[in-house]
Amino acid sequence: MNLVVKNGRIVDPSQSIDRVADILIRDGVIRSIGDGTFSDLPVFDAGGLIVAPGFFDIHVHLREPGTEEAETIATGGSAAVAGGFTAVAAMPNTIPPNDNPSITHYIISEARRSSPARVFPVGAISKEQRGETLAEIGEMFEAGIAGISDDGKPVMNAQLFRRALEYAQMFDMPVIQHCEDSNLSKGGVMHEGIYSTRLGLKGMPAAAEETMLSRDITLTQLTRGKYHVAHISTRGAVEMVREAKARGVRISAEVTPHHFTLTDAAVADYDTNAKMNPPLRSADDVAALVEAIEDGTVDAIASDHAPHHINLKMLEFDRAPFGITGLETSVGLALTKLQLPMKRLIELFSINPQKIMKVKGWGLFEGSAADLTIIDLKRNWTFDVHQSRSRSRNSPFHGWQLKGKAVATIVGGRVVYEDRA
Ligand SMILES: [Zn+2]
Ligand SMILES: [Zn+2]
Repeated sequence: MNLVVKNGRIVDPSQSIDRVADILIRDGVIRSIGDGTFSDLPVFDAGGLIVAPGFFDIHVHLREPGTEEAETIATGGSAAVAGGFTAVAAMPNTIPPNDNPSITHYIISEARRSSPARVFPVGAISKEQRGETLAEIGEMFEAGIAGISDDGKPVMNAQLFRRALEYAQMFDMPVIQHCEDSNLSKGGVMHEGIYSTRLGLKGMPAAAEETMLSRDITLTQLTRGKYHVAHISTRGAVEMVREAKARGVRISAEVTPHHFTLTDAAVADYDTNAKMNPPLRSADDVAALVEAIEDGTVDAIASDHAPHHINLKMLEFDRAPFGITGLETSVGLALTKLQLPMKRLIELFSINPQKIMKVKGWGLFEGSAADLTIIDLKRNWTFDVHQSRSRSRNSPFHGWQLKGKAVATIVGGRVVYEDRA
């Protein structure tokens, strides 16, 4: 855990750093940033590469406990570092769900044992994610959760959601909502629009996301809670977040790479790898998401990595489960499809995720944990799902040619992933 990362372009927008320098790491901690010869230490040559504070994917489903045939904490963690992520937040909809401290403890200890990426568990809002009574939020906080969410499901009960916003404030944790009015979206399998009509599939209207978000903004104002919108996907939702932020509401939002790269046209051949929730939206929604990424309305890019066993995704479109894998393609898709300054990209993948989840000691400064993501902007590569480290194969991006890649991931001063051309 001693290392010198030499000659990289070090970019940390939280401290306005953008310069070529060396990073000295001892015992897993950054000791200095500057120039110098440290002849006794192993060297990682980062010449020509970007060295960023560790990337943090705040929306990941690791499937353990309960659905280990789709993913485990070990395989999900391995896919994370291969995608450039030093840390992930694990959503609670496991079997059983993470709604009590014994599950939280299990996830944390299993991650320490088997995952090369750091894992921050998200606790459930409600017991068994049934939306009826609050889960053991205080006890889970003591055990180490970083936020609460019933993701996988929305919280339909407004009174329960109000209490969650109030209660989470005691711990300064975000309440993360999967925005969907499940009455409006009931039975839907894709976005409601011309494609759903043409294909004869039941649609989920943009209004299902927007009505829930509108309610939640009202409750966030009422409680002065800390609210985070998972996987925002519609123009109307983006406009609501922009307007709420302008009024000083404590709201943040994340967008997934699939929502800013694909439209509902991808469903046309009934490809179940184009089935996710929220669904792929219209071209106009995609344009609004890209604008929102550029202007700061969207705070973070998160994959909503949702592995499913191949047998399930081979079912017909109506019956297949929602969700795709995303950890290994997220950074490449952002670098290829978005024209963002490096500073903004690192805010979206590292600085803002850390702020949303309130993780301490993040960034490139003396005394911080040596968690680094190293990027080659010129690297041309093709994503091959059969080479994926995830236990599942449900990606719509197989065969995509991408430009720009995380070529090394360092966690606690240890090189846990390296892919040098
Ligand atoms: Zn969700
Ligand atoms: Zn999710």
